[in-house]
Amino acid sequence: MKYFQTIKQNKQSCYAAATLLSILLLAIFIGNSGFKKDKQVSKPNIIVILIDDAGYADFGFMGSKDLQTPHIDQLAVTAVRFTDAHVTASVCSPSRAGLLTGKYQQRFGYECNEGEGYTGMDPAQIILPAILQQQGYATAAFGKWHLGFKPDQHPLQKGFQYYYGFLSGGRSYFYRPDKDDRPGSKNALIENQQQVQFDGYLTDVLADKATAYIRQNRNHPFFMYWAPNAVHTPMEASKADLDRFAKHPRQKLAAMTYALDRAIGKIIDELKKQGLFENTLIFFLSDNGGAHNNESNNFPLKGFKGNKYEAGHRIPFLVSWPKQISGGKAFKGLTSSLDIFPTALAAAGVQTNASMRLDGVSLLPFLRSNENKNPHAQLVWRKDAAAAIRLNQYKMIRVNGLGERLYNLNKDPGETTDLRTQQPQIFSMMKQQLLAWEKDKMKPAWTEGAMWDTITLMIHDDLMNNRKVRVHNPEELAKFRVKK
Ligand code: CA
Repeated sequence: MKYFQTIKQNKQSCYAAATLLSILLLAIFIGNSGFKKDKQVSKPNIIVILIDDAGYADFGFMGSKDLQTPHIDQLAVTAVRFTDAHVTASVCSPSRAGLLTGKYQQRFGYECNEGEGYTGMDPAQIILPAILQQQGYATAAFGKWHLGFKPDQHPLQKGFQYYYGFLSGGRSYFYRPDKDDRPGSKNALIENQQQVQFDGYLTDVLADKATAYIRQNRNHPFFMYWAPNAVHTPMEASKADLDRFAKHPRQKLAAMTYALDRAIGKIIDELKKQGLFENTLIFFLSDNGGAHNNESNNFPLKGFKGNKYEAGHRIPFLVSWPKQISGGKAFKGLTSSLDIFPTALAAAGVQTNASMRLDGVSLLPFLRSNENKNPHAQLVWRKDAAAAIRLNQYKMIRVNGLGERLYNLNKDPGETTDLRTQQPQIFSMMKQQLLAWEKDKMKPAWTEGAMWDTITLMIHDDLMNNRKVRVHNPEELAKFRVKK
């Protein structure tokens, strides 16, 4: 009896000790974290607004005269606007892989869009929300994922605690039980792991989900990755938005862009309503340049989505954090979407280290000074056969089977005048620098297949020779072959 009493007493004292320890650990955690509620919150919320296939010139703040983007333009007034910012790929999927890992995606073979032998995100890669979650941030992703379909590539397995969106690269903007939303479809809308129905226009729905999330998480820091499929094809808009632009020459894009702007306006308004806007770090950008098939306008840049000319990868980019960064100015330094990762960590007070192998830099020191210094002296792009390197004002494009071109972007932003013979030393140096960059990168883990390889090669051939592009897609290639 005494023996059992002793065990019972010991157990009770163990429970008491464990409870005390839990309370102590929690107290230490809260004490250290700076995540106490309300007034003591100091860590900023972080939002990445990643839109899809938008044209370089298709926002009021980028000079558009015919598309209406009043809310994004208002954000641009108070934010820092970048004039030389680039994503790491000119197509959706690898661009997202680079942004979320903070590394050149060629480090892990994620070089091409979904295609032959596609395997998606290397599960070993740690992405931004996983680190922020460890630091006490609530994390959520909305919209297009396009980083793989396997269970261990799901947003919930990669550090997001909540997900509302679809795993593929594109879908209808309306609920389609007969098509995109049929049971088991890769395009289906899901909430966490569950397939769900939705009413109305998807861009609006993604905004409503985001504002609800902001309200629910207003008392502690959150990281939100808001990645609508707008303005990617299919070209679909609500009747009301289409009616508004009934006579517009780019009616569908104008309506889709207007809906996108309304959605971003809702998110910003909710932040303001909750008193969070000042201490929220917002990144706004597109995942690649305007596509040939969505009526977009990349003026004055050459090329479009999918190639190595500037319109493929130079993107509209805004950074807003009113509490820490004075806005209303243009930043001209050479910048990459790779910089989002270290900038977000710096803002959250997280130390980066060499083992993370990040390729970007924190933009905060650049934005806090009034000088337009270059965050990067060099940026590189590569998708299978086509590569490009930027070194200060020079850009070299190299396409296997077609050779190279060298441009001076300061004098020739439209990339028309080849300088290889005039600037042989710079040309030679850039070729060497590109080879040096490639030394520690992998070969693509999959490719886009023979059809797209041919199309991309023909597009580069035309652009490199300043010709009209003959073929943009498989349908045009088939017609071209018949004509020949
Ligand atoms: Ca895209």
